Order: sequence, then C-alpha cells, then structure tokens
Amino acid sequence: MTEVLVEVDDLKVHFPIKRGAFFDRVVGHVKAVDGVSLRIEKGKTYGLVGESGCGKSTLGRALLQLTKPTGGTVNFDGTELTTLPTKQLRSMRRRMQMIFQDPMSSLDPRQNVESILTEGLQAHGIGGDRAERRKLIAKTLDAVGLPQWALSRYPHEFSGGQRQRIGIARAVVLNPDLIVADEPVSALDVSIQAQVINLLEDLQEELGLTYLVIAHDLAVVRHISDTVGVMYLGALVEEASGDDLYERPLHPYTRALMSAVPVPDPEVEDRRERILLAGDLPSPANPPSGCRFHTRCPWAQPTRCGDERPGLRVIGTGTHRVACHWAEQIESGEIRPHAVTAEVVADGAGAVEAHGTLAAALETPGGPVV
Ligand code: SF4
Repeated sequence: MTEVLVEVDDLKVHFPIKRGAFFDRVVGHVKAVDGVSLRIEKGKTYGLVGESGCGKSTLGRALLQLTKPTGGTVNFDGTELTTLPTKQLRSMRRRMQMIFQDPMSSLDPRQNVESILTEGLQAHGIGGDRAERRKLIAKTLDAVGLPQWALSRYPHEFSGGQRQRIGIARAVVLNPDLIVADEPVSALDVSIQAQVINLLEDLQEELGLTYLVIAHDLAVVRHISDTVGVMYLGALVEEASGDDLYERPLHPYTRALMSAVPVPDPEVEDRRERILLAGDLPSPANPPSGCRFHTRCPWAQPTRCGDERPGLRVIGTGTHRVACHWAEQIESGEIRPHAVTAEVVADGAGAVEAHGTLAAALETPGGPVV
C-alpha cells in the first residue's frame, strides 16, 4: 500500500488588502488559496496546473510554510506543520526543499557553487567537517550532471540549464523527502526543458523523492506527474491520475485548458475544436458567487451554477474528482456548451512545433548537458 507523505486539508491563504495613509485599514482580502485539500503519496509526483494568478505558487509556498496559511492544515509525514514551533519547523525544513523558476534570481551571484551548496549543509548541521561536506557536494554534482570544476565558478558563468542544475543540487544535497518545484523549466529552452525534466525523474527514482511540480505547461505536467490537480481562482476544480485527466477531462475549465494544447499532427490540429473562454480571470479579492467558473463557463446553467459552490466529488469508481454540478451531463452531451469556437490561434503552427519538440525530446535520454 502506498504511504501518504503530505496531506493538505482545507488550506487557505488570504492576503489582507490594506488602505489608508499608514496602510492600517483592512478593506478586504485576496483569497489566493481558498480551501484546497490534496494528498501526495511517497515517491510520487503531484502536478499542479492552472493559469498564472490562480494561486498554485502560493499553495506550494504555504505547503512548505514559507507563506503562513490563514486556515487549514498541512500534515507532513505525520507532523502537523501549521502549529509547529519555529525551531522544530526549521529542522523539518531540511526534508522539504524548493526549486524555483528562475535560477539566476534564486542564486546569490556573489557565491560560488561550493559556497551555495555548503550554506544549506552548515545551516542544517550536515557533514562534520569541510572534507566530509566536499565529499557530499562532489557526489551531488555528479548526480545532477555538473562537472567538479563547477565548484569554484559563479552562477553567471553557467548557462540557464546548468544554473537550474545548481538549484536542483542545492535542494538535493540536503537529502530531502519532498521537493516543491515551482515552474522548474518554464524559463528554459525546449530542448533544455526536456533534460531538466528527465534529470528530475532520474533523481526521483534514485533517491525516492516526492515532488509537487507546479507548472502552467500541460505537456510538462503530463509527462512527469502521477496525479494532476487543476486549479482555478484559488481552488482545485479537478484531480485525477495523469492519464485519466488527459484522456477524460471532465471539468469545463480543464477541457478549455486541454483544447488550447497544440497537437503535433497538423491535420488533427486543424480539425479539432478549441474552447475559447470569455473574459479574464476574475479577481481573487472578489470571486464570483456559486461556482467560481460560472462567469466564463461555456456550459454554465441558470440554476445552481451562480448560487451554489460545487465541492470536489468523485466521478465513477476511481480517484477522479471534479468540482462541477453538471459533470456527468456535460460528459454525456446532455448539456451542450453555449459557445465552443473552432478557431485556431494565430501562432498555432509555432506552438505545435514547440510542443512536438518537447514531447520528442522528453523521450530521448542523454544528450549534451547545456
Ligand atoms: Fe460550469 Fe456550472 Fe460546472 Fe461551474 S458548475 S463548471 S459553471 S457547468
């Protein structure tokens, strides 16, 4: 039986909106994360997708207690983190590391690689003396595919892909159990993205790591995830195993996201329907009543959708969960969309090529380290 490493229950992160000459008047709250519950099994990858601004990065930070949650619980390997005293939380942090989107801004330009990797070891009291720490660091550089001469170099002397490897090394050298990777490849070229994703997978297998991977790119998340959660306006709207979600997206928002992913075959791409959502993402400071997606949902119904907030519920007998009142009727075609447009976006051809290249590159092991 698989063990659960992380269990998040009804997690909320609300940021106060302050006004007044001294910003001392709270006039509302931005509900960045608003009642998310999920579980991540040991040694598995949970992929979190959604538009920028949907709260996925805030959720990742709140899970690690880098941002203090407003409500809810985060249980990590049997320990409740939200009420843990600072000292214990600090020692727990070694087991929970983060990889950032932009390695250049997350690495101190004045520190060389040895100093970057030594810092964490010293902070957590790992490795007795300098020789022992150097041994650990040398092993980690090998594991992430960086040469030993990298030790004395500075971040600006490396390419984007190599810098991300340094960021991964900084996390892995501490021997963590969980890594939260926030858009780990979105700042990289497509061919380099594939190398970094393959590296994360190799490290997971070798070290038994558990991942929460946050990304807006569905191709990345599909490739790497055992379970995928789709977030919209601070809440999970659908969750399923990677294959199930991509083969049978049930929530209208997931369907819209999927329909925007280009298909490598240009003939299929030309023929398929694309669901275009009306309007922008509503403000999380003032989310719509009822189903938060009802202002943009092509399947929205006059009854229930605007009044009653749907919770996540299991559809069928498996683990596929959807927050939509009408998921079954939408799937069977009993409820038809008001407006589905088969338009192809102007830069479709370029996107197809990019998607095809990443998919192909992900299947190609090895290759030069760039
Ligand atoms: Fe659309 Fe209504 Fe389902 Fe919300 S509950 S996703 S508005 S059909």
